[in-house]
Amino acid sequence: MMDLKDLRKILVANRGEIALRIMRTIREMGKKSVSIYSEVDAALPFARYSDEAYPLRGKEARDTYLNMERIVSIAKDAGVEAIHPGYGFLSENAEFARMVEDAGIVFVGPKPETIGLMGDKTEARKLVAGYGVPVVPGASEPVRELSEASRIADEVGYPVLIKAAAGGGGKGMRLVHDPGELEAALRAARSESKSAFGDDRVFIEKYISNPRHIEFQILADNYGKVVHLFERECSIQRRHQKVVEETPSVALTSSLRDEMSKAAVDAARACGYRNAGTVEFILSEGNKYYFLEMNTRLQVEHPITELTVGVDIVREQIRIAEGQRLGLDQERIFRRGHAIECRIYAEDVFGNFYPDTGTIRVMREPAGPGVRVDSGIESGNELSVYYDSMIAKLSVWDTDRNGAIRRMRRALEDYVIAGVKTTIPFCRFVMESDDFKLGDYSTHFVENQWPSGKRTLAEENDKDLQDALILASVALEKRRNRSDNLAGSDTARLDRAWLHKRFED
Ligand code: ADP
Ligand code: ADP
Ligand code: MG
Repeated sequence: MMDLKDLRKILVANRGEIALRIMRTIREMGKKSVSIYSEVDAALPFARYSDEAYPLRGKEARDTYLNMERIVSIAKDAGVEAIHPGYGFLSENAEFARMVEDAGIVFVGPKPETIGLMGDKTEARKLVAGYGVPVVPGASEPVRELSEASRIADEVGYPVLIKAAAGGGGKGMRLVHDPGELEAALRAARSESKSAFGDDRVFIEKYISNPRHIEFQILADNYGKVVHLFERECSIQRRHQKVVEETPSVALTSSLRDEMSKAAVDAARACGYRNAGTVEFILSEGNKYYFLEMNTRLQVEHPITELTVGVDIVREQIRIAEGQRLGLDQERIFRRGHAIECRIYAEDVFGNFYPDTGTIRVMREPAGPGVRVDSGIESGNELSVYYDSMIAKLSVWDTDRNGAIRRMRRALEDYVIAGVKTTIPFCRFVMESDDFKLGDYSTHFVENQWPSGKRTLAEENDKDLQDALILASVALEKRRNRSDNLAGSDTARLDRAWLHKRFED
């Protein structure tokens, strides 16, 4: 039996929107929060919101939010009882979790061993497969030699995907259509993986065509109780990374949902999971599901689960870390209505989703019924090149999917951001798309539907692109015509000038 421990003061080892989101719950729980901030982040809201804030010397992630020794030393000086790692950065670093625990501080997350185990995709595959959870056809051992890779690829059948064992954030993946491409792809995947994760082990999976990405939110306490909070569909992706998520998924029948949620809970049990985690699956066109990986942390898109299930996942994480028993019983966890999240990144959606940087000159966030904005930035703040280019997450809830889509459309239209290019025009396009409205989409939505940049002039005459641009400019025009909205017309002018420039180029 584990002792109950009141975590009165918690350091949030992260930045931006997620640091702020976590600290809000810490405050609601009557606890104190401690933030750490890099030299470029001193002006961001999260650093002000915390009860105590400590500067980190430097700008680069490795000197600041990835600096384990420094973070643990600040935590000790500040006298915190726990560290919440958020997502990204050190959240899935087993060594950090161990270092925190060795310092006598509670790590808000799973055990270090679990993080290590599930952080290795090959180990995770082996483990869950042993519990009867279906994994993508392929090999669970890393491949080194071309001959070995070629044998495995022949066995599973082309196309295959080479993936980094230590992968994350969509990095270190290479699609191979035929044997002739294998050698170069193997080399590229290994070197990308080496530079991104310091680990060049890769493995081979069958490439599932036109799949959907479906994941289940898990909560587990220290006493063996595991529940799920239903699924999120995250198939709208660019560079294998999510941009739009929704729950429920229209792709699941209730029997398939039951089966997959059971597999997700089994995967969590297989690794003795505790705290919040997400089990990701890929769903084939033939409705076969396969385990992809487990993310042993709070997930970016957790708000849509919170909106539909009515559970504050961060509060549950902290309660679990305090040694409390899960107060939720599976039979009494209900989901209501429909929620959608759009990730608002500073990116040029007409230029291959290339990240943009700059100062946010004007920003007005949407509000009103059923709208939630998780933002970490304000007018006047700068989006730097040092970290992820996310500006905010816009989530909406309504009683049904059509209502949620309409609400998201309205919220996107109300959103004003001037100074950087954003994913708003793309998200608006998704909400207008017939295929999305019908729920008929896969992870290839972006390449099939969105005629992004890197196009020749001839391709720019392509009807899809014209439609997209017209759609964007129509929406902007509408905004411009709203005379009471000075900031809006300002943005619209900028965006229109830029759109026109693209037509001329
Ligand atoms: P989610 O499934 O929660 O969307 P992602 O894979 O998109 O997770 O990653 C979440 C965040 O963590 C993103 O900001 C991404 O850039 C970052 N991230 C993911 N993997 C890593 C990693 N190995 N190292 C550093 N940052 C990472
Ligand atoms: P990461 O750790 O980078 O999130 P994942 O294994 O979760 O890596 O895969 C990220 C995305 O890549 C998936 O959501 C999916 O779109 C695509 N993907 C991964 N594995 C496969 C596969 N075997 N077949 C087709 N697409 C895949
Ligand atoms: Mg993933």
